Parts: sequence; structure tokens; C-alpha cells
Amino acid sequence: MRKRILVTGGSGFIGSHLCARLLEEGCEVLCADNFFTGRKENVVPLLHNPYFELLRHDITFPLYVEVDEIYNLACPASPIHYQFDPVQTTKTSVHGAINMLGLAKRIKAKILQASTSEVYGDPVEHPQRESYWGNVNPIGPRACYDEGKRCAETLFFDYHRQHRLRIKVARIFNTYGPNMALNDGRVVSNFIVQALQGKPITVYGDGSQTRSFCYVDDLVDGLVRLMGSGDEFTGPVNLGNPGEFTILELARKVISMTGSRSEVVFEPLPHDDPMQRKPDIGLAEGVLGWRPSVPLERGLVKTVDYFRRMLAV
Ligand code: NAD
Ligand code: UDP
Ligand code: UDP
Repeated sequence: MRKRILVTGGSGFIGSHLCARLLEEGCEVLCADNFFTGRKENVVPLLHNPYFELLRHDITFPLYVEVDEIYNLACPASPIHYQFDPVQTTKTSVHGAINMLGLAKRIKAKILQASTSEVYGDPVEHPQRESYWGNVNPIGPRACYDEGKRCAETLFFDYHRQHRLRIKVARIFNTYGPNMALNDGRVVSNFIVQALQGKPITVYGDGSQTRSFCYVDDLVDGLVRLMGSGDEFTGPVNLGNPGEFTILELARKVISMTGSRSEVVFEPLPHDDPMQRKPDIGLAEGVLGWRPSVPLERGLVKTVDYFRRMLAV
């Protein structure tokens, strides 16, 4: 029998790649999405597959379906989008987690949460290990996302302890690749779109802050391995590429790769913007046998190709 899998947020950037991968593996996939930041275009290529089903649904409301596994990815991930309606962002993380955990409890499904490196906030420990508790401002403009995701982790572990749910928690670090929206607003897509359009590249602050960028295929592989790991392994586990770059380095790479004549302009650093971020992936390597294989340059080539096609139509 085909495994039946629910992917919430399945029409978003990461979700659409995950749905495609699960279908390739012969699973039956139910994608639930309210299309807040996701795009139908991301899953149009999957619609012809009889084992793929697309459901317009907001996970802050209950959902009654029957599946074997749940990947809970629903939540806007880009600062401009999660700060657009911060109350809805917290509801999505918290009410959404309660509903998906309640669903998993009723149908005895295994459930994976897409958590985030944002749970570490502006980290004092570098690189970040899973044992680090983080440095998060609970009342700032990023809190709706960071604290929402932290509370979701709490709920996952309480359902695990209290109701013996089989849970998996992935702490995802900055991920990029095809299927990001043109207006996504995160740094990789912004820089590429600006470079291809010959517009100024907007570096926030002086560009010395760092991030570690993971190509989406690597990330999806990590999520699938995590779901397949033994029941005793709950995570949280970091999934990301440990290669660390300053934002200014990223801007220069994108300019040279696209052959763009765009200039770099400096804009104010957003409030509470973390200064550095780099995953320690020792746990994922040890338990899941996972490590990313796509270096930044190679992933950027594929992402630039994708945005070129997007801008051409
Ligand atoms: P995305 O914005 O492209 O995808 C999120 C999807 O969730 C969208 O399709 C959106 O429409 C949907 N959604 C939002 N609120 C919903 C709701 N209430 N009900 C149903 N659907 C809803 O972002 P992404 O980059 O694909 O992120 C996917 C998940 O991974 C998110 O949970 C995000 O927090 C997490 N994550 C992503 C990154 C990254 O770098 N991409 C890093 C850390 C964590
Ligand atoms: N829920 C859901 N689908 C289900 C079962 C539950 O969406 O198949 C939601 C329901 O809204 C409920 C929440 O999950 O409020 C939490 O469920 P749980 O059983 O943990 O708690 P309770 O029902 O007691 O509130
Ligand atoms: N950033 C930037 N220019 C942009 C978008 C983002 O300099 O056009 C910076 C942002 O201030 C942050 C980093 O790039 O320091 C990563 O931002 P992003 O929104 O991609 O993700 P974050 O890791 O902050 O959630």
C-alpha cells in the first residue's frame, strides 16, 4: 500500500519540492495550503499525478483526514511576510501545531515540524548546536515567528511526553532554490532578482552579518531522512549547510555570476537582525548520515536559471 502523507504548506517553496520528492518515492501526497505565501504554480506540475491532491486549507482550523505521516511546513518564512500579519503568524505556528498534533494523535500518524534556526535568535554560541537555548527577543518584530516556532517545539515535545506521539523536529537554516516567489523578500531571491533586473542590490546594514545557505534539494533530503529515522529519535536536529558567508560576499557572488551591472546600496539593518548564523550539523551527520552536497555556487546557478525563466514570462 502507498504511504499517505500530508504536507502542510505544500505549495510553498520547500513544500513544493518535498511533495515532488515524496511522489517520486511512490507516496500518496495530500498538500494543504491557504496560499498566503505559497503559489499554485509551484504544484501545477504535480497536479496531473493521480496520487497528488491539493486542498485549500488554513491549519489554524481543524483538519480531519486520514494519513500515515504529516510534514508540518505551513507558516510564512520570510520576514516581510511573517511580519505582515504577526498575529496570524503566531496563530499559524501555535494553533496550527495544536491542530496538526491533535490530528496526528487521533490517527496515530508520525509528525514532523519544520522549525527554524530562528529559535536560536541572535546567537551567543557559534556555530549553533541543538543544545543551545537561544537568545530571542520575546517582544520584538521577529517574535511572532521566533516565539511561535519555539512554542510549536514545546507543543511537539509535550504531545510526545504526554500522548506518546511519534515526533520529529527539524531546525532548518536559511534555504534557497527554485520555486521561491519573486516577491519572497529573503536575501538570496532579492539579490538575484535585483541583479537580473539591473536594479540596486539592497544590502541591509554594512553586510558583515553572516548566514549559511542550504540548497533546497539537500534540505528536502534531510527532512525525508529525519522522517524515516527510528522512533526513538525526535530531534531537534539542525538541517543546514555549514558554509558561512557574509551578506556582502553573497551580493558580490550574485553580481559576478549574473554578469549584472547593478550597484550595491546599503540600507538600514532591520530590528533584531541576527549578526551570525551557522549550523553545527554533527547530530544530523551522526544520526541521519546526512550532509549537504550542493555548494553555494552550484545552487546559485540553478536558482539564477529559475529566476531568469520567471522574469522572462
Ligand atoms: P513559504 O512561505 O514559501 O512556504 C510556507 C507555506 O505555508 C506557503 O505555501 C503558505 O501559503 C503556507 N501557509 C502559511 N500559513 C498557512 C496556514 N495558516 N495554513 C496553511 N498554509 C499556510 O516558506 P518556505 O521557505 O517554503 O518555508 C516552509 C517552512 O520551513 C516554514 O514553516 C518555515 O518556517 C520553515 N523554514 C524555512 C526556512 C528557509 O530558509 N526557507 C528556514 C527555516 C525554517
Ligand atoms: N484536531 C484536528 N483533527 C483531528 C483531531 C483533532 O484538527 O483529527 C484538532 C482539534 O481542533 C483539537 C486539536 O486538534 O482542538 C487538539 O486535539 P487534542 O485531541 O489534542 O485536544 P482536544 O480535542 O482535547 O482539544
Ligand atoms: N538582507 C539584505 N538584503 C535583502 C534581504 C535581506 O541584506 O534584500 C539581509 C538581512 O538583513 C539578513 C540576511 O540578509 O541579515 C538574511 O535575511 P533573510 O530575510 O533572507 O533571512 P533571515 O535569516 O534574516 O531570516
